[in-house]
Amino acid sequence: MSDLKDLPSMTAKAQENLATLNINSIYDLLFHLPIRYNDRTRITTIADLTLNTDVQLVGEVFNAKVVFGRRRMMTATLHDQTGEISLRFFHFNQSQLRGLADGTRLICFGEARKVGQRIEMIHPQYRILQHDEQLVLPDTLEPVYSTTKGLHQKRINSLIEQALQWAAQADVVFQGVLEDWPELPAPAPDILQELHGMHRPHADADKQAILGRQTQGQQYLVFEELLAHHLSMMKVRLLSNQRRAVALRATGRLSQTFLAQLPFKLTLAQTRVLQEITDDMAQGIPMMRLVQGDVGSGKTVVALTACLLAVENNYQAAFMAPTELLAEQHFRFFTEQLLPLGIQVAWLSSSLATKKKREMLALISSGTAAVVVGTHALFQEGVEFDNLALSITDEQHRFGVQQRLQLTRKGNAESYYPHQLTMTATPIPRTLAMSMYAHLDYSVIDELPPGRKPITTVTIPEQRRSEVIERINASCQQGAQAYWVCSLIEESESLQSRAASATYELLQQQMPELNIGLLHGKMKSVEKEQMMQAFIEKKIHVLVATTVIEVGVDVANASLMIIENAERFGLAQLHQLRGRVGRGEKQSSCVLMYKNPLTNNAKKRLDALRTSSDGFELARIDLELRGPGEVMGTKQSGDTHMRIADLSQDLALLPQVSKAAQWLLEKHPQRVEILLRRWLGKAIDYVNA
Ligand code: ADP
Ligand code: MG
Repeated sequence: MSDLKDLPSMTAKAQENLATLNINSIYDLLFHLPIRYNDRTRITTIADLTLNTDVQLVGEVFNAKVVFGRRRMMTATLHDQTGEISLRFFHFNQSQLRGLADGTRLICFGEARKVGQRIEMIHPQYRILQHDEQLVLPDTLEPVYSTTKGLHQKRINSLIEQALQWAAQADVVFQGVLEDWPELPAPAPDILQELHGMHRPHADADKQAILGRQTQGQQYLVFEELLAHHLSMMKVRLLSNQRRAVALRATGRLSQTFLAQLPFKLTLAQTRVLQEITDDMAQGIPMMRLVQGDVGSGKTVVALTACLLAVENNYQAAFMAPTELLAEQHFRFFTEQLLPLGIQVAWLSSSLATKKKREMLALISSGTAAVVVGTHALFQEGVEFDNLALSITDEQHRFGVQQRLQLTRKGNAESYYPHQLTMTATPIPRTLAMSMYAHLDYSVIDELPPGRKPITTVTIPEQRRSEVIERINASCQQGAQAYWVCSLIEESESLQSRAASATYELLQQQMPELNIGLLHGKMKSVEKEQMMQAFIEKKIHVLVATTVIEVGVDVANASLMIIENAERFGLAQLHQLRGRVGRGEKQSSCVLMYKNPLTNNAKKRLDALRTSSDGFELARIDLELRGPGEVMGTKQSGDTHMRIADLSQDLALLPQVSKAAQWLLEKHPQRVEILLRRWLGKAIDYVNA
């Protein structure tokens, strides 16, 4: 319907390149919106130009020459009636130089800057004007698109031009599906015209408003897009509700036995959430529930008890964690708890040796292993369950939607689907959860286990590093254990690992009496596991690590957390990291070491962390500082890839979105499909699957 191949100049290569920009259809291309605009619709005089902005000048060039300074470059002077400006080029060729004979007329576009007393333009785009040429200026702004290797600006621009022409002729409905919704604040725009307005804005259009998606027409599109996502999630839920699941009645045979022998009692919040899960699983339709609970609120025991509900009904349960390290820990914990109850736990990860893997697969397919713990390897081809009735995903925001839905298919799909439980420590604002996670029921563990001692958090500039080391040295000699997290955020895994190794060497020299360990992503999984085990057994005092320890790691005796370059981390990540301590009897501390100068934003983050330990409060601040897309991790995972909406700005629209969804479903259900097709692109496949 909107196949890229329908565009006259499309090639296989271009299609491949477009795919890296997430563009897979003509619709996607139409919504590849400019990141900024060049205004070539007017000419400025040199006397009137505004410094440090792009301007367009017309004048005569003189004195073009090559100069040999620190770098070889070509310079020239441009004159108009009002003044002169220097032009400077670092990349040029001889014919270019010859073309700029004295008196040649040019039209130049670029940013003018003041250098000493002179005004200059570095690398302006220019065109030579013929002697008698009548200057014709465009009447629309020139769009600038994000590009990718092999697909330059001009090419994208021309493909978009073709897409616009295709859309004008194509037999597709570009009518707003909410046209006649009584609560629409302003008339629905012509969508195609709106797209034209964004790709080819008129000379006197309000650039800033367009870039900010603030025009009335754009606001309508934003609304439609949010509505499409909301409806797609509702649809996932409706489809799921038509499926069958095994109704698991809580006999208590295993679950109660397990809870009774725990050294602690569940908190009220844990009990309540467990009850909600139990009620869901007793139904003959698949549970779809999201459990949110702050770091350390005790989600694991709740999940484990849910597994036992499946097992006491003679069905299997699977538990999936986002990293190998975390999955490994869960596996250890599950085995420790379940083996005494006579339950075998299988382990699956992609780094498993072939022979071992075959063994595990056999345990899983025969049903000998009633519980399976692992990474996303759990839902890959070739993993056959005997009778999977429950699948649990820990730290769900780290998986993409697609991965999560894949796991649901591992049920015995002809007769039933597994119940689904997802868990996250990322607090999600209620309106956001209800709208963008409309397919999930929502439980909150809003209470920490009693007796937790608050973690003391301090921020310390890097210059005082030696003081920190002294303090750790002293504490660890008295039996304390510490994490030392050093990481170059957003750098490659190997750079991170190298940074950690360097710190490890350094700390070994500075604290020779202590045993220092090292943990990073480049290590083999056995090595990682051994290191973790040594730390658990207190053979290591200080564990130097990258953010591989960010989620889930649970060592109760560790009471010191040092985070280097804390200013580079996001608030949620710092909160997660800090949550690795404060899990036992000891009074815990977290040291946030930072490099000056701090940006305003970084300062706010560190202050927030110092003064609050409440995940919800921190999430609220994070939301203010960063926006929901990033808070929920959806940006990275491409989970809710939005074309024009931006949840950080559009959160307030969500209540109206729910209302519009109700109206559409009641009055015009046939339009839902049009809407989903328009906005979801490829993602529609997994909504319908
Ligand atoms: P998270 O919610 O971050 O995954 P965990 O499940 O790892 O938290 O639990 C953190 C720690 O708290 C674990 O050591 C766990 O045994 C302990 N814990 C869980 N529930 C309780 C409780 N009700 N009382 C005391 N300790 C608990
Ligand atoms: Mg956890």
